[in-house]
Amino acid sequence: MRAIRRFTVRPVLPEALASLGTLAGNLRWSWHPETQDVFETADPALWESVGKDPVKLLGSLGQARLRELAGDATYLARLGQAQADLDAYLTEDRWYQRKGGADAPRSIAYFSPEFGITAVLPQYSGGLGILAGDHLKSSSDLGIPVIGVGLLYKHGYFKQALSADGWQQETYPVLDPDELPLTPLREEDGSRAKVTVQLPGGPDLVATLWIAHVGRVPLLLMDTDLEENPGHYREVTDRLYGGTSEHRLRQEILLGVGGVRALRVYSRICGAPEPEVFHTNEGHAGFLGLERIRELTVAEGGPGLDFDTALEVSRAGTVFTTHTPVPAGIDRFARDLVEQYFGSAGVVPGVPLDRILALGAEDYEGGDAGVFNMAVMGFRLAQRANGVSELHGHVSRGMFNGLWPAFDEAEVPIGSVTNGVHGPTWVAREIFGLAAKQGADVDGDDTDALWPLVDQIPGSELWALKRVLRQRLVDDARKRVRKSWKHRGAASAELSWIDSALDADVLTIGFARRVPSYKRLTLMLRDPARLKALLLHPERPVQLVIAGKAHPADDGGKKLIQEMVRFADDPEVRHRIVFLPNYDIAMAQPLYPGCDVWLNNPLRPYEACGTSGMKAALNGGLNLSILDGWWDEWYDGGNGWAIPSADGVDDQDKRDDIEARALYDLIENEVAPRFYDVDSDGVPEAWLEMVRHTLKSLGPKVLATRQVRDYVRQLYAPAAQNARALNSDYAGAKALSEWKQRVMGAWDAVRVEHVESDGVSETPEIGAELHVRAFVSLGDLDTDDVAVQLVHGSLDSDDQLKDTVVDTLTLAETYEGGRYRFDGTVALDRSGAFGYTVRVVPHNERLVSDAELGLVALPA
Ligand SMILES: *Cc1c(COP(=O)(O)O)cnc(C)c1O
Repeated sequence: MRAIRRFTVRPVLPEALASLGTLAGNLRWSWHPETQDVFETADPALWESVGKDPVKLLGSLGQARLRELAGDATYLARLGQAQADLDAYLTEDRWYQRKGGADAPRSIAYFSPEFGITAVLPQYSGGLGILAGDHLKSSSDLGIPVIGVGLLYKHGYFKQALSADGWQQETYPVLDPDELPLTPLREEDGSRAKVTVQLPGGPDLVATLWIAHVGRVPLLLMDTDLEENPGHYREVTDRLYGGTSEHRLRQEILLGVGGVRALRVYSRICGAPEPEVFHTNEGHAGFLGLERIRELTVAEGGPGLDFDTALEVSRAGTVFTTHTPVPAGIDRFARDLVEQYFGSAGVVPGVPLDRILALGAEDYEGGDAGVFNMAVMGFRLAQRANGVSELHGHVSRGMFNGLWPAFDEAEVPIGSVTNGVHGPTWVAREIFGLAAKQGADVDGDDTDALWPLVDQIPGSELWALKRVLRQRLVDDARKRVRKSWKHRGAASAELSWIDSALDADVLTIGFARRVPSYKRLTLMLRDPARLKALLLHPERPVQLVIAGKAHPADDGGKKLIQEMVRFADDPEVRHRIVFLPNYDIAMAQPLYPGCDVWLNNPLRPYEACGTSGMKAALNGGLNLSILDGWWDEWYDGGNGWAIPSADGVDDQDKRDDIEARALYDLIENEVAPRFYDVDSDGVPEAWLEMVRHTLKSLGPKVLATRQVRDYVRQLYAPAAQNARALNSDYAGAKALSEWKQRVMGAWDAVRVEHVESDGVSETPEIGAELHVRAFVSLGDLDTDDVAVQLVHGSLDSDDQLKDTVVDTLTLAETYEGGRYRFDGTVALDRSGAFGYTVRVVPHNERLVSDAELGLVALPA
């Protein structure tokens, strides 16, 4: 019988146990094992059966057990300690308070469509969400005043299971917010805090606000599943990345526009400072810039600025991070649809539709006039933009070069901050234990002292620990395989083989990630016989643990999973290769520490960064990967293996063949022999040497604390400073927007008329000095509106400049009619072909880059 209504009855905790509620109400428990111990001790069996979920645990502990605990002095002492530890964590000064500096932003809003924080708050699909979760957690650890903004999805993403023939099945369990680690945000009178967004042709869309406390960082989640919304509005926050394009658009409108409104409500109720920096994690939240423009232009009680000034105000404090070099991964809507939603009675009434449409227009060579591109809008609405690894920064500059066509790729104003991972979430507790044993302070926010200690850990201890971690993975994997086989229709009697599937002494390779085609889940199946031989090698076998979800609409991905499952079903190899359904944080946490090798074989350069290999590395796993994303940057020849990629081979089949063969060769000739080369104590010293080197070389780099520090220094602090300078009374922003319009209007008249040089012969030698004089005409512009630059470098065979250096020439003489001479000198310090040119670009200290306006004047 189906219930027509449901309630969640919240437990009443005895006074003495009130701290349990406080601990459960802050997700810091999810990366603090000592707090998890406190929950576990309350009822170990129950803790296991509720999936290590504190809210569910407290809801299921009987009154008798609660009374017992309330009288248990030892338990109360531990509870008190955990509460005191949390209080200290939430209030004491951390890195940002000590080192942030006076100019550091008071508050940073971080928008993301998904947040992967803990398995018990399943609001993520993959890497983007995990990254967002790690960003919040590391910000909390360092005391960075971030506030997260997202949506609360009633079904999260989906749960994956397998059919008998290995086809992915999706289910969408209902998540009851009352059973999640969330607190409703309330107005002073006790009513639920809400935001509304006007949608065309209907009533306002209403969302209530929930807060997830992520350590020191609040995460605001908007939820439209309310009785006062009509049915199709209630579904706006039904699930992540599902539904039609219009459904996605509504979600993104709520995330961006509703998100800014949610921040305002939060600040009003909680007295929190208004954000000075708005960071949009991928293009999905880009509409936030339009709401800020509305606030600044037409909103009642606002400053009533003109559109262009408001755009400068908003841009100065906005950071946009792009996350994918895969064109299909970029969010694009039909222009008509955006027109419909942002028309006169639409989402941001009063903000001119033509200006909105122009922000997302692909008005560059190769662009599609019929679409509205969220990434393109992201770049136009943010003064600072970045990719997520050095290689991805480079690829993004190429991909979006069309927005700044006058500049070479290297000068396109998109930087990079390489992703990282949150140590306390992803590193096995025992690894921290080993470090602590060497005297390290593993709870501090400074981990630099940790890494050199690696050399002091005896090989036998490290190796014994890796076996413990491998065994834990084997146990977990067996449970999951058994459950999956039962779901697929097998009888228990047929499953005794699972008791001996996988082996804690066998070289364990992990491969888990979403299943878009560029990640090439099945590359390892290219030559099934060869893979089989590796798995079944008599002395040096390997075992593979594989997991991954395909997007529900991606039948191609589901076929790959099926191919993998069918291979793994084969009785001959099923004890050495398993596919574990429903890859999520709960599976991932024992998976990384249990693997000896982490495999990644994307089609280069489509992996923007990748973070799973970082998690493996921090647990003493070695990476075996294509040189893509972060691995391209930090592979150093000794911290793992690079699978050579056949870049430039256009025939995909041929490329897969070449790369698969290289992968088999590496495993057979390098990886397995080293793993099994043990000394008389059974310890593989040469292997552990690589493990130690991995920890020392990658540890300081791959942590998300490094990542968020980089964001603060390179992006947040400069953005906040520029925003303050422009916006204290909006005079700076007004001046900048007027300046831009003046420069753009006058640019046609800017010319490099003539360039002279001397000082070098026809065949100059190193050390010679080239003197350059450039005669330019600036029309109505002044010399301080521009920079006149000497761009020099080596030449390729087409006389194109490469590896260019830009020097600024200085004003030497002024002539009548807006004409000037600029001079400069360059020392020839490299042998080989050398070339130069002179150019004029707009220059203003409030621009991040001279390329920002996309304008340049070159010699005719
Ligand atoms: C780390 C992680 C990811 C992201 O991995 P990539 O290497 O970026 O593909 C996805 N899902 C889960 C559960 C993770 O823990």
